[in-house]
Amino acid sequence: MAILDLKHVKIAALLGLLALSPLAEAGLARPATLRPERSGFFLALAGCKNHKWVKETQKTWVPPVYTQKLVGYDKDGKPIYEKVLVKEGYYKTTIIHKCAKCGKIK
Ligand SMILES: [Zn+2]
Repeated sequence: MAILDLKHVKIAALLGLLALSPLAEAGLARPATLRPERSGFFLALAGCKNHKWVKETQKTWVPPVYTQKLVGYDKDGKPIYEKVLVKEGYYKTTIIHKCAKCGKIK
């Protein structure tokens, strides 16, 4: 009897999986995150019809500039170079126009 019960449980489980699989497939085929009407990702790819431009500041790091300077020669006559800072790195703030809906930058 116990074995029969176990068999029934397995069949029930299998049927349960089969019953759920169409839903699972539908979910995979069209996940909620990829619905065009909801997804920012889709909008970013396809673009939206009427952009809503908002001003935003963007900080970007401008890396320092170095150069190699000849400082002398070693005992074998090989040149010795030194890394010299030409311009320090800094943060640059720029104003950008970004669409609030799709994230596109003008
Ligand atoms: Zn847009």
